[in-house]
Amino acid sequence: MQKNVDVLVIGAGPSGSIAAAILHKAGLKVQVVEKMTFPRFVIGESLLPRCMEALEEAELLDAVKAKNFQQKDGAKFVMNDQICDFNFSQQFTDGWRWTWQVPRAEFDKVLADEIVRKGVDIAYQTEVTDVQIFDDHSITTVKTADGSEEKIQARFIIDGSGYGRVIPTLFGLNRESTQAPRRAVFCHITDPKRSEAFEPNRIIIYVHDPKTWIWVIPFSNGNTSVGYVGDPEFFEKYESEDMATMYRKLLAAQPELKDRFGDSELAWEQPRTLQSWSSTTDTFYGKGFVLTGNVTEFLDPVFSSGVTLASVSAQMAANLVIRHLKGEEIDWENDYMKKMQLGVDVFRTYVNGWYDGTLFKVFFAENRNPDIMAQICSVLAGYVWDENNPFVKNHEKNVRTLARYLDTQQTNA
Ligand code: FAD
Repeated sequence: MQKNVDVLVIGAGPSGSIAAAILHKAGLKVQVVEKMTFPRFVIGESLLPRCMEALEEAELLDAVKAKNFQQKDGAKFVMNDQICDFNFSQQFTDGWRWTWQVPRAEFDKVLADEIVRKGVDIAYQTEVTDVQIFDDHSITTVKTADGSEEKIQARFIIDGSGYGRVIPTLFGLNRESTQAPRRAVFCHITDPKRSEAFEPNRIIIYVHDPKTWIWVIPFSNGNTSVGYVGDPEFFEKYESEDMATMYRKLLAAQPELKDRFGDSELAWEQPRTLQSWSSTTDTFYGKGFVLTGNVTEFLDPVFSSGVTLASVSAQMAANLVIRHLKGEEIDWENDYMKKMQLGVDVFRTYVNGWYDGTLFKVFFAENRNPDIMAQICSVLAGYVWDENNPFVKNHEKNVRTLARYLDTQQTNA
């Protein structure tokens, strides 16, 4: 059997669902193929305000609002007794001041269910195994739930397959990331001591040691996601007979977490672990296809950039595909790839600055300039395309110069 559609979207994660919603709204015939059944687990629970704009354009905000996820108003960074609290209401850029902290299985399912309700077809348990591109269409082979093969003809393909990296893998486009390999160990746990003192409306990032950090992301269901990220070697000293024992040892190693989560129960049988997730590709587009979300480039989760980059790339790509299918000549290099790369590069500066310690000097300086912190707050809110922000426009130079200046201030004090 061969189906014929305008756009085939691979993957029903946030990038796939947002792209499909925008294309459907424009009157195009869209088919989404998703290899799993939903709800399915994926990590990436702390959103950034910028992704709200993509959800809004895709008309998915109301469905998410109805789920009463935990509102996120900021992010707090803690190193020993030093605290740097970013409140999105004080950010430089004129944009969204809040977002959500979400268990992704539920969040992704709301988005997917809502696009189905609007009329998009999602074929679950349907895995892309081959893609052939011709002059004005493509033929994609999928394996369905019963093991049979089907073909889908499409005028254009959006690949939002996340860690699946379908087109880069099939077309040999994958490139090794320059980011150092890192490992994460994480779980959802009960939070019996949660109170306003722990401010559930923001995430906390603890600096455990200069190369290891911990995320604490409270959910509205009462559980909290706690994860450790560090060099693979860091975890060796905690290796145990099972992941649960290892995780308990990790919690006990950070005093604030030992106090807050010492009596917590694990919401999962075993914590999970992931390693070496950073990836990139030679190009974000090609004849008849565009890549969105994690398939393009994924750096490191310390600033929660993943879902936002997935949402914004889906929003940009879908709008360009609409114009392309109307017959317009699209400059994919400048209007998509370079634009997306710009945002990724801003985040890269901050990720690198985190791991080389530059940002610690900025975040934990004694006298922080509120105007500068508001500009950095906008970066952490995902407004990494706002060129009016000096900490976006000249990200690398300004972060380094500020850190050096604060260093001399400290030395002279
Ligand atoms: P996904 O959400 O991965 O969705 C892709 C979908 O494609 C999946 O459902 C998959 O089943 C489907 N698929 C794959 N292969 C195929 C195939 N062959 N055929 C059909 N379907 C297929 N991001 C944040 O924003 N905030 C965070 O706090 C955060 N924390 C993170 C912590 C860690 C340790 C890591 C590793 C990542 C974190 N991320 C975070 C990043 C986040 O996980 C991703 O950026 C985000 O999920 C990307 O969304 P997506 O839509 O591109 O892909």
